[in-house]
Amino acid sequence: TVVEPTPEEKAIAERNAQYKNVWVLVEQTEGIVAEVSWELLGEGRKLANKRGSEVCALIIGAGVRNICADAFHYGADKCYLIDNPVFKEYRTEPYFRACCDMIHKHKPEIVLMGATGLGRDLAGAVATELQTGLTADCTELDIDPKGNLMQTRPAFGGNIMATIMCDKFRPQMSTVRPKVMQLAPISENPKSEIIEETVDIPATSIMTKVLEIIREKKGSSDIDISSTEFIVAGGRGMMSKENFSILNELADELGAVVAGSRMAVDAGWVSHTRQVGQTGKTVRPVVYIAVGISGAIQHMVGMQDSDMIIAVNKDKDAPIFEVANYGIVGDLFEVVPAMTKKIREA
Ligand code: FAD
Repeated sequence: TVVEPTPEEKAIAERNAQYKNVWVLVEQTEGIVAEVSWELLGEGRKLANKRGSEVCALIIGAGVRNICADAFHYGADKCYLIDNPVFKEYRTEPYFRACCDMIHKHKPEIVLMGATGLGRDLAGAVATELQTGLTADCTELDIDPKGNLMQTRPAFGGNIMATIMCDKFRPQMSTVRPKVMQLAPISENPKSEIIEETVDIPATSIMTKVLEIIREKKGSSDIDISSTEFIVAGGRGMMSKENFSILNELADELGAVVAGSRMAVDAGWVSHTRQVGQTGKTVRPVVYIAVGISGAIQHMVGMQDSDMIIAVNKDKDAPIFEVANYGIVGDLFEVVPAMTKKIREA
């Protein structure tokens, strides 16, 4: 027997059918694009291929036309460009207005933003205005047989992965963690269609004004561990801040950056900008050395995609060994200095 759709289901299907294409917000600050935007264009391309649609870049800013060329390089079929001095610095209200107007006008089926400060701020406001769903902090995206977006993210403190769908509303919106999706550069993309758009933003609708931008001081703590090739990370097993000196020595030999588990960060041994994991950063270095880290799921979601993982732990049953390519069972206070010595001799 064929089950006829209810009038409500029919209305939803008709409304959803008006929405097409995957949009990626290309996030930029002073013309510098957040890497996650390029990662999302690569992911957006895969989703668009499955839907038989296009992946489009939404570029908002002041003097940002040149970004379109990069967007095409990373696989965009089209760029929607809103170039206006009002977008010089990020402020919620004008960006919100621009996004909502563009989505109303062009009806993308999927809208992706980075799970960055900007993306988290903007996506929530836009989804609320459009009365659609938003899945924040996704780590995996796919399309189900009915054409809906399947959005996977850690839930319940990272103990389970939840797959969330927004089948009744469009667009389907997700923010995606940086470094989770692979960059997919397309060297020869002949596309070059730039659609220039203007948005009417009444001055009265903007309630904030940027008075001054105070840049973070350049120093060792501001190294972005998510784009570092070698990481030596310490956990609670390090026992004290002073003991991190043995990790610093190893890191110096390798040209690596020292990072830590949340335990190490909470104890004040490592700066919070260097925390790896669910509530820290996702890293994908060439080599990740985990020292005195047990391998809690919330830590592993942030480093398990590293090319090579080396773990040092005195507990042979520590979960970190399940994802490690090389595991050394032993006392870190003996193993780490021995590793440093060996590298120095090499
Ligand atoms: P422990 O689990 O205490 O492990 C210490 C390890 O050191 C042990 O395996 C021990 O065998 C080993 N060890 C001790 N002494 C030695 C020695 N002398 N030689 C060798 N090995 C030794 N954690 C994160 O890391 N990042 C996150 O982003 C994060 N987000 C979280 C979000 C939520 C919502 C929650 C609930 C938790 C989160 N956590 C996060 C915390 C996480 O659950 C763990 O508590 C934490 O990762 C444990 O840190 P650790 O491995 O350093 O410490």
